[in-house]
Amino acid sequence: MKNLIGKAARFTLLAAITSLPGSPLLADEGRTLYMANEGLLVEHGDTKVVFDPLFRNDYGQYLLLPPAMETALFAGEAPFDGIDAVFVSHFHGDHFSPADMLNLLESLPELQLYAPMQAVVGMRSEATAAQQNVFARVHSVSLEYGDAPVSLTMPGLLIEAVRIPHSGWPTGRVDVENIVWRVTLDSAATVAHLGDADPNDVHFTNDAGFWADRPIDMAFPPYWFYGTATGREILDQRLRARRSVGIHVPIQIPGDPLQRPVELRDVDLFTNPGETRRIEHAD
Ligand SMILES: [Zn+2]
Repeated sequence: MKNLIGKAARFTLLAAITSLPGSPLLADEGRTLYMANEGLLVEHGDTKVVFDPLFRNDYGQYLLLPPAMETALFAGEAPFDGIDAVFVSHFHGDHFSPADMLNLLESLPELQLYAPMQAVVGMRSEATAAQQNVFARVHSVSLEYGDAPVSLTMPGLLIEAVRIPHSGWPTGRVDVENIVWRVTLDSAATVAHLGDADPNDVHFTNDAGFWADRPIDMAFPPYWFYGTATGREILDQRLRARRSVGIHVPIQIPGDPLQRPVELRDVDLFTNPGETRRIEHAD
């Protein structure tokens, strides 16, 4: 009983503290920082990862990384100091640039990369002789649609990968190896980056047990998940996301919810590079 009271009190305190804008992070709380498009920094304690950070194509409708952010990323300067791992969702020009990723791995000698095989093949074909040694830190996953999820670990990180088709399924882009990464930092905070996943529940039913086993503290779906009832149900009931923030938001969609299309007014979206969210997690 004593424990229960203590826990309840802590939750009340947590709620009070986190309602204060600009208050410092609690030791046991995570944070995410929006970079651009589907680029994100996620941190918890001393563990830091980034998703889809380097790409060069905006296709006329997505944000590119602000130059100052790119400089800090390559220099390993705050807030990008001490990054442990980088994740790539898929090999499309608005998510991934092979040459830039090779340069980043060269710049940051401790950095580990997790990426679909298609992206790693792209890097192999562009790597210079001097860059061959970075592949010791490149971990590729090769998954077909319907394959069982894979699980990897490194200090501070539990990394799980599932292939979920790119939007456009079943007629378009079916050859694209889109990986949903479910990553747990410090055995505490679990996030999921969905890449350009197609919002159809049939992709998630096969691995219902996998998704149910580890609820997600914060999911990052492409914004189109909010546009259909099924997409929202996948987030709530399949992924069991306690909270989600939409990414891959076109520049035409404003940050102000009242000015968005009606189906996007009640959801949280990343629209401004540098904005952050706290990641609260269950004990
Ligand atoms: Zn794509």
